[in-house]
Amino acid sequence: MTQFSLTDDQIAVRDMALAFAADNLAPHALEWDEKKHFPVDVMREAASLGMAAIYTRDDVGGSGMTRLDAALIFEALATGCPAVSAYLSIHNMATWMIDRYGSEEQRQRYIPRLVTMELIASYCLTEPGSGSDAAALKTRAVRDGDHYVVNGVKQFISGAGTSDIYVTMVRTGEDGPSGISTLVIEKDMPGVSFGAQEKKMGWNAQPTAAVIFEDVRVPVANRLSDEGQGFKIAMSGLDGGRINIGACSLGGAQSALDKALAYTGDRKAFGKRIADFQALQFKLADMATELEAARTFLWRAASALDAKALDATKLCAMAKRMATDVGFQVANDALQLHGGYGYLADYGLEKIVRDLRVHQILEGTNEIMRLIVARDLVGRGNR
Ligand SMILES: Cc1cc2nc3c(=O)[nH]c(=O)nc-3n(C[C@H](O)[C@H](O)[C@H](O)COP(=O)(O)OP(=O)(O)OC[C@H]3O[C@@H](n4cnc5c(N)ncnc54)[C@H](O)[C@@H]3O)c2cc1C
Repeated sequence: MTQFSLTDDQIAVRDMALAFAADNLAPHALEWDEKKHFPVDVMREAASLGMAAIYTRDDVGGSGMTRLDAALIFEALATGCPAVSAYLSIHNMATWMIDRYGSEEQRQRYIPRLVTMELIASYCLTEPGSGSDAAALKTRAVRDGDHYVVNGVKQFISGAGTSDIYVTMVRTGEDGPSGISTLVIEKDMPGVSFGAQEKKMGWNAQPTAAVIFEDVRVPVANRLSDEGQGFKIAMSGLDGGRINIGACSLGGAQSALDKALAYTGDRKAFGKRIADFQALQFKLADMATELEAARTFLWRAASALDAKALDATKLCAMAKRMATDVGFQVANDALQLHGGYGYLADYGLEKIVRDLRVHQILEGTNEIMRLIVARDLVGRGNR
């Protein structure tokens, strides 16, 4: 990226993802939501275009692209279906964690099949008793020769039951973040089971359930990096995850804004198009402005992550908070501009609002994003 514009390559990547979303996601998104269908076959088609391992290194088949490229892709895919785009973003995050922190043997063993989505990956941090306070996790892994014996429950896991690979944060040592390690746990390992599928407000095109570990013997060879590194690994995955989920909010909101522009240009009240009321024009102008500001800032945070800037974690938290709040507000305003029709499922607005609502909660709640930013400010003495 030159400072405020995209390169020809970036525009081509974004347009490819936009076309994929228009052809393969948008026509089915309402049905998938209604039927709670997880479109694995369609995600594999996205994988064949390089969208399952976007910022994973290319020597194992990854696309070797940047975080900014990933933001462009997830925003574009979310114009078709935020829930499917968001799932692809989680798979990308887990795949990158194996690429970044795995041994050469682990990279070769898993990544080529994650690239094609022959294997589907989930990220397991949250537990029933610890969400925001993730370092309090209790799932225990006790060393027994060449294995760990894992016991515990992970809550709210996206992809649970379908995914083949669970990149799981476990406690191998003392209380707190330094006692946490990361294990790659496979679905078929004896002792892995799943809770009932959660009934949710949105994100119905992907499953969410608890993952239960009962005396699961996981080879030590499945640990990423050293013992005690798990919390750092989990948080560094989330820096990128937050950019990605912010991008999904922008894409959903952009599609809601586009629908609102078309609708207000067509719908008549009091003898004229509702788009001719200046109050609604100002609303549309504010929606477009807020969205553009959030997008520009998200790109800045993604570029900081690409550059490994010292303030990248703070910028990712800021951008996630802003993009997901703005995205939800713009989608909700677009619903309002549709009047009663916005509330009907067939118009597609209420589905976007429902999907985007959870982006303010997961990958760290927006309160926790403020906590990360505030800690950085206070730590630097700016009181
Ligand atoms: C649909 C869905 C999919 C998910 N997918 C995954 C997944 O794939 N993998 C995974 O690991 N997790 C996943 N999650 C879990 C998600 O990340 C957590 O729900 C989230 O981190 C919040 O944790 P919690 O629900 O335990 O809320 P809590 O941590 O109990 O928070 C409750 C409220 O208190 C606030 N709060 C907590 N601490 C503070 C503080 N210090 N200051 C101010 N406010 C605070 C929170 O912001 C929130 O508003 C998913 C959740 C959902 C709903």
